[in-house]
Amino acid sequence: MKKNNNTSVNIAALLIANRGEIASRIIRTCKKMGIKSIAVFSEADRHAPFVSQADTAVFIGESNPAESYLDQDKIIAAAKKTKADAIHPGYGFLSENAGFAKRCAKEGIVFVGPNPAAIEAMGSKSKAKTLMQAHQVPVVPGYQGDNQSTNHLISEAKKIGFPLLLKATAGGGGKGMRIVHKETELQPAIDAAKREAQNAFGDDEMIIEKYIAAGRHIEFQIFGDQHGNAIHLLERECTIQRRYQKVIEESPSPVMNDALRQEMGAAAVNAAKALNYDNAGTVEFIYDDASNSFYFLEVNTRLQVEHPVTEEITGFDLVQMQIESASGQPLAIKQENVKGSGYAIEARVYAEDASNDFLPVTGKVLRFEVPVVEGLRVETGIESGSEISVYYDPMVAKLIVWDATRQGAHRKLQYVLQHLVCLGLKTNQDFLFHLLQNQDFRDGNYDTHFIEKKLDLSTLTSKPESTTTMALIAASLHDWSQREQTRGLLRSIPSGWRNNFYAHQEEIYTFNEQEYLVKYRSKNNHFEFILCEKSYEVQLISSNEETILLEVDGLQLQFTIAKNNGSVYLQNEETGNLQLQTKDRFPVREKEKIKGGYLAPMPSQVIKILVEPGQEVSPGDGLIVLSSMKMENTICSEETGTVEEIYTTENSNVEAGFLLVKLKDNQ
Ligand code: ADP
Repeated sequence: MKKNNNTSVNIAALLIANRGEIASRIIRTCKKMGIKSIAVFSEADRHAPFVSQADTAVFIGESNPAESYLDQDKIIAAAKKTKADAIHPGYGFLSENAGFAKRCAKEGIVFVGPNPAAIEAMGSKSKAKTLMQAHQVPVVPGYQGDNQSTNHLISEAKKIGFPLLLKATAGGGGKGMRIVHKETELQPAIDAAKREAQNAFGDDEMIIEKYIAAGRHIEFQIFGDQHGNAIHLLERECTIQRRYQKVIEESPSPVMNDALRQEMGAAAVNAAKALNYDNAGTVEFIYDDASNSFYFLEVNTRLQVEHPVTEEITGFDLVQMQIESASGQPLAIKQENVKGSGYAIEARVYAEDASNDFLPVTGKVLRFEVPVVEGLRVETGIESGSEISVYYDPMVAKLIVWDATRQGAHRKLQYVLQHLVCLGLKTNQDFLFHLLQNQDFRDGNYDTHFIEKKLDLSTLTSKPESTTTMALIAASLHDWSQREQTRGLLRSIPSGWRNNFYAHQEEIYTFNEQEYLVKYRSKNNHFEFILCEKSYEVQLISSNEETILLEVDGLQLQFTIAKNNGSVYLQNEETGNLQLQTKDRFPVREKEKIKGGYLAPMPSQVIKILVEPGQEVSPGDGLIVLSSMKMENTICSEETGTVEEIYTTENSNVEAGFLLVKLKDNQ
C-alpha cells in the first residue's frame, strides 16, 4: 500500500492487535466509520465480548501474551489472511514497539500510530529528555548521560541533591523507579535499581532526577498529522495514583488556569513538533505545587487508557482521528477549534485488593451490571461470567462521567460507584467510592502520594455492625426464598417448616473471619430474625436468583446477590460490597506457614528461577521472579540458608499460596 503526500490510503478493513475494553472501543469507531473490524484473540479470550463484536476474528495462540498478542509474526499473518489494510495496536502490547511499526510499513499495512522514529525517540527516558531539552521543553533537573559508572552516577546524584529518583531508562508503567532520601542510601540503591532494571528490561541504564515531593501528574493529549500539523487537546489530571499507576483521571485539572494551560499546551505542542509527531500521543508532565513549575516526564506514543476523558470534554473521537491521521489525511481541526466543555472524570475499576497493597486478584466476575445514568460512559471488556485471569491487566471497567461542573461529575460518579454491580471477586469499587468522599480530593487538593498519605484504608474491610446485619439477613432470606421457589413437592408447606412454629431456623456465616449465627422463623412472608441477641422484624417483598427486596424494621433494601463455592457476594448502595462465607464450606484452605517456605503472594506466572537446590542464599537474594497481570515481583530470601527444594518450573502458573521454594537453615 503506497501513498504520496497528496493522497490518503483507504482503510476499509482494520485489525485490532489488542484485547478487552480497548479492542471493543476501537471496534465501535470502525462501525461508525464503516470499516470492517478484525479481532485477534488468544485461547483465554475465545469467548470474550470483543471477539464477537468484531466483524471477523482470528485465533492467534496461547493465552500467554508472548505467544499471541505480542507475537508479531502471528499478528501480521492474521492481517494478511483477512486482508487488513491497517493495524491498530491499542495500548500496551505492541503499541510502542518501533520495530513492529516498521514491520507493518514493510508489509504494506498502515500502522495506526505515530512514525517509528517518534516511537523510538521516546522509548528511552534519557534520549527523550535530551531531545526535549533541545526543544525548550522544561525537563526535571537531573542526569541523563551516557557515563553509567556507579562512581559517576554517585557524583551526579550529589550535584542534584536529595531526595532524588532513580529511573530505568528503559522503564515504563511505574516499574524500575526508586526514591533515594540520603547519601548513605545511594550506592546500594543504584546497585539494586540496576539489577532490577536488568532483570525487568534487559538494560540497566539509569537516569537520575530531582524528586518532586508534592507533584501532580498533568498530561496533555497531543495530535499530529503527516503534513506537519500538531495541536493539543487540553489536559488530563492523573495525580491520583497507586504504585505509580493511575486510578482516577479528570479534566480540566483543578489547578489549571488559562495562562498555565497556554504555557503547558505550548510545551506539549513543542514536544510533538520535535518528534514530527503524526498521530495521537500524550505528553506527561509533573507539576510542582511548591514552585508552580512543570517538567516534562515522557511522551506516550499511543492512545492512553484515559483518552475518554478528553473525548467527553472536547467531543472528538480520538480513535477516528487516529485512523484518519494514519491514512494520511490532514488534521480536520485547528488549535482554535479545541474547546473544552464541562467536566469529565474517569475511575478505573480493577480486580485488586485495596486493603492489601492493591495487589491484583483473579477470579470470575459472576455478575456485572452497569447502572443507567445520563452522562455515564462505560468502557469494559467483560460481562457476567468473564474471568479475570493472570495473563492480562486486571482492569474490569472504566467508568467515565460527564457533567457541567466538577462537583456534579463527582456526585454522579459516586452514584455510579454505589450502583455498579460487580460481584464474584475483590475489586477496588468500595475504595473508589471512599476516595470520592474525601474532602481534599473534592477540593482538588492532592499530590501523587494522596492515596498512601491521606486515605485510611482500614475502614474498607471493617463494615459497621448495621451493614453486616443487613447483609446477613438478606443472605439468609435469599437462601430461604430460593429453597422455597425450587421446592417441587409439598408446596403448601413452607421451606424449613417445623412442627413447632416457634423453633428457629439457623444459618452460620463467616464475615471478616468472624462467625455469625443467624436465627429466623417465618409466618407467611413475615419473619423474625435474631442476630447477636437483637431481634428484627423482616418482610420479604420480592426475590429472584439475582436480587432480593426486603423490609427490615420498616426500611426497604435491595441487594444484588451472587453465589459461588460457598461464598455469597452481596451488593447494596448503602453497604457496598460484602463477601460472606457459608459455614458448611468453611474453613477455607488455611495457608499454613511453612518454615523456610516461600509462597506465591498472588496467582502468578513463574518467569525465572534464580536459584538451584543446594545453593546458599543470604537475606535479600532473589529466589524467583513472578509475573502477575503486568506486575513483576521478585521473591527474595529473608534469611541465610540453603535452597532445599524448588516446587515449580519456569513458565508454569501458580495459585496464590502455592509453595515455591523451601530453604533450610544453615545452623
Ligand atoms: P513510567 O514510564 O514508568 O510510567 P514516569 O516517568 O511516567 O514513569 O513516572 C510515573 C509516575 O512517577 C509519575 O506519574 C509520577 O507520579 C512519578 N514521578 C516520575 N518522576 C518523578 C519525579 N521526578 N519526582 C516525583 N515523582 C515522579
